[in-house]
Order: sequence, then structure tokens, then C-alpha cells
Amino acid sequence: MLPIILKLKIMTTAMAGWTAAVAPVPLPAEALATAVAGTTAMPVEVSLYDENDHQTGTIAIWRDGATDDATKADVKRLFRCRSTHRQKMIAQKTLAMLADVADHYPGKTIEYVSAFRLRNSSGDSESSTSPHRDGRAIDFRIRGVQLRDIRDYVWRTYSDVGVGWYPSEQFVHIDTRPGIHDTSWTFLRGVNHYHPFWSEVARDPALAARLAARGYRS
Ligand SMILES: [Zn+2]
Repeated sequence: MLPIILKLKIMTTAMAGWTAAVAPVPLPAEALATAVAGTTAMPVEVSLYDENDHQTGTIAIWRDGATDDATKADVKRLFRCRSTHRQKMIAQKTLAMLADVADHYPGKTIEYVSAFRLRNSSGDSESSTSPHRDGRAIDFRIRGVQLRDIRDYVWRTYSDVGVGWYPSEQFVHIDTRPGIHDTSWTFLRGVNHYHPFWSEVARDPALAARLAARGYRS
């Protein structure tokens, strides 16, 4: 595995919190050769917008979710718990999924609401089984992309995941849960509705096609 020589580009805003911009470092010959060989050998540039602090930045993540040490420090800080300011590294599988989502919607920015957290927005302690508490979950939206589209893409592409749709709050929750069965839900009026119809449709192309022909949209 090549180290990430492509230095992450953090665009600082006037506000504190993000690391100072770092001058790009030239690629060593072998990395350059790989880069020329194909874009799949390159890390994905994930453009981020912090919904809480209203700041933007870009991090580089390999397709398998690996990052270099500097990026790890940035990931921990960016996705820190909002109420306690505690930091935890986000799971590699979750970062891989995030990189894939970023790659699937090129030129778009991931606007994230919450990732690692010890308390939720109401101030209640996050449950011990929460994927957020374990650093495996991210809540986000992508401006210009339907939440439905993101939701269905992740659900039909991955297994060992949790995907939650929050239409009122306007975000999608994604998490990785190795060894735990897939879980899908829609959050409506304070309640999780598990195994919603959209999750059936998203994994059944024939059903999706039949419904689309009738103008139905899950
Ligand atoms: Zn969530």
C-alpha cells in the first residue's frame, strides 16, 4: 500500500478548527507511475462540509478506507463528538463506504451532521450498542442529490450495513456492522420504522422496474 503522498487539502476558513493548508508534496516516482496507470489506484478526494461548524475541507481516503496518519488525525477531529468534543477514529469500513459514496457522486460535497458521538443532540447518552458511539456511523446529505438516491445506492451496494432514512431531518444514516445483519429503517415522527418498503425495492431490480413503470416511487 502506498502512503498518501497526495497531501490532504484542507481549505481553512476564517474560523478555527480546521488544520492549516499544507503545500502539496510531489509524488515519488512509483506513486506517480501508479497514478498514471489508473485512477482506481488513487485515493478518493472526499469533499466535506461540516453542518455544525459550517466549514469545508477535503480529505483523501483509499478505496479500502485506509488513510495516512495526518488524515487520521483530521478524520478524528472533523468527526468528533459534538457535545463532549471527544475524538475516535472512524472505522475503516465506514471510511471505505464514505469514499465510495463520494466517488459515486463526483464533484459533490458530503454535508455531514453527525458521526462519532457519546451523546445525541438531545443530550442523552448514546447507547452502548450505537454504531455512532463505536465510530462506525455517519449522518449526512449531499446537496443536489435526493436522499432516496443515496439511501438506495448504499443499501443495494453493501451488506453488513445499517441504512436509515431521515426525510424530515434531511439526512441519511449509514454505518458498517460486521457480523451483524443488515438493518434498514425510516425515521418518522420520532420513531424508527424497520425494514421499510424502499429497502425491499432497492435490492430487487425487477420489482423496482415494475414499480417505476407504474410511476411508483418508494
Ligand atoms: Zn445516525
